[in-house]
Amino acid sequence: MSVANGRQFLSIPGPTNVPDEVLQAMHRPAVDIYSGGMLGLGDSCHEDLKRIFGTGERVYIYAANGHGGWEASFTNVLSRGDKVLVLESGRFAIGWGEMAAMLGCEIEVLPGSMRRSVDPAKVEARLRADKGHAINAIMVVQIDTASSCVNDIPAIRKAIDAAGHPALLMVDAVASLGCMPFEMDAWGVDVAMAGSQKGLMTPPGLAFVAASKKAKAVHQAAGLRTFYWDWTLRDGPVSYQKYCGTPPEHLLFALRKAMDILFAEGLEQAYRRHDLLAEATRRAVGKWAEGQILAFNITEPAERSASVTNVIVQGQSPQPILDYCRDKCGVVLGVGLGELSGKAFRIAHMGHTNAPMVIGTLGAVEMALKALKIPHGTGGVDAAVGYLGSEVAA
Ligand SMILES: *Cc1c(COP(=O)(O)O)cnc(C)c1O
Repeated sequence: MSVANGRQFLSIPGPTNVPDEVLQAMHRPAVDIYSGGMLGLGDSCHEDLKRIFGTGERVYIYAANGHGGWEASFTNVLSRGDKVLVLESGRFAIGWGEMAAMLGCEIEVLPGSMRRSVDPAKVEARLRADKGHAINAIMVVQIDTASSCVNDIPAIRKAIDAAGHPALLMVDAVASLGCMPFEMDAWGVDVAMAGSQKGLMTPPGLAFVAASKKAKAVHQAAGLRTFYWDWTLRDGPVSYQKYCGTPPEHLLFALRKAMDILFAEGLEQAYRRHDLLAEATRRAVGKWAEGQILAFNITEPAERSASVTNVIVQGQSPQPILDYCRDKCGVVLGVGLGELSGKAFRIAHMGHTNAPMVIGTLGAVEMALKALKIPHGTGGVDAAVGYLGSEVAA
C-alpha cells in the first residue's frame, strides 16, 4: 500500500521547487538576442541581483551550475602558485578548494568539523601566524549544504581584519542567497558566488559571481584568467560579451520571474519565512531525537542553518526512511554527503517552500519512523505546528 500519488514533494537541498509561474515564464519561443526586449531583460537581471547580493558592484551571470561559479570566482582573482586558505565546516568549501588545487593553487585547509561552523578565533590565529602574508585568499561557505551549518560571515571578516591580513574573502552563498541576509558590501566580502537552483527558485544552469573593487584590482594581474570566465571581457560594451556568447535566454526569463516573486514577498519577509520553517523543522527533529536514534548533525543550536537540516541516524541506515518517504508518501528527502553518506538524511526548507510543504514533509518522516518502528519521541509534527501557530499571528 502507498499514499504517494499526488504532487511529489521535492524536499532536497537543491535543486529546489521551481514555482509554476517560473516554469511558465520559460514556455515561450526564443527571441532575438540583439533585440531591445532581451537586452532590457538581461540588464534588469544584472541590476536586481545586486540587491540580493547586497552590493553596488557588478554581478556576473554565467551559463553554468554552482561549480562553474566556483571556477569563475577564482580564475578571475588567483594565479598559479597562490595560496588559498579553505575554512572547513562540512563538504562544500573543501570541494571549492579542490577545484582551485587542480588549477595549480596551493590549498591549506583550516581544519573544522562536519558538525560545527567555522570558529572565527581559529581563522584569526591562523592569519596572525601568516606574518609574510603568503595567503592570497580565504574561501568559506555561508551555509554548508552537507553539514547544514551556517557560518558567521561578518565575524569571519572581523577576524581577518583583527589579524590585519590582506587576503581576499571569498564566500559561497549557493545555499543561502535568498534564504537569509547577505550583505556583500557591508560585510566586506570580496568575491561572492551563488547558483540559480536553490534559494533563487530557478532551474539549475545559472551561476552568479559578484566582485568587490578590491577583487577587481587583484583581477588585473590574475594569472588564471580564461576567456569564458573573464570579468574584463564581460565588462565589454556589447550585450553578447556579458554572457561570452548567446545569453541563456530561457533561464533569464525564469530568473526574472523568480526575482519578481522574491521581491513581491520582500527579502526580509522571505528570510523570516525561512527562519520560521527551519525552526519548525528543528522542533520536530528535537522531539524525534528523544528516541536516541535520530540526532541533529549540527551540535550547537545557533549554528543550524535556515535552509537545510541534517539529521543523523545512529546505529542504523537512514535508507529505509528515505525509501519509505519517497515510495510510500511521495516525499523526496536529501541523502547524507561525504562522511555522512549512509548515516544521515537532510530536510530542505529552502526557496519556494511554505508551511504545508514543510509540515507535510515532517509528517511523512514521522509516518516513516512509526511504520519502520524506529524509536523516536512522539509529537514532532505537533511541536512544529504548535510553534508555527504561535509565531504566525492570525
Ligand atoms: C549546491 C551547492 C554547490 C554546487 O552547486 P552545483 O550547481 O551542484 O555545482 C556549491 N556550494 C553549495 C553551498 C551548494 O549548496
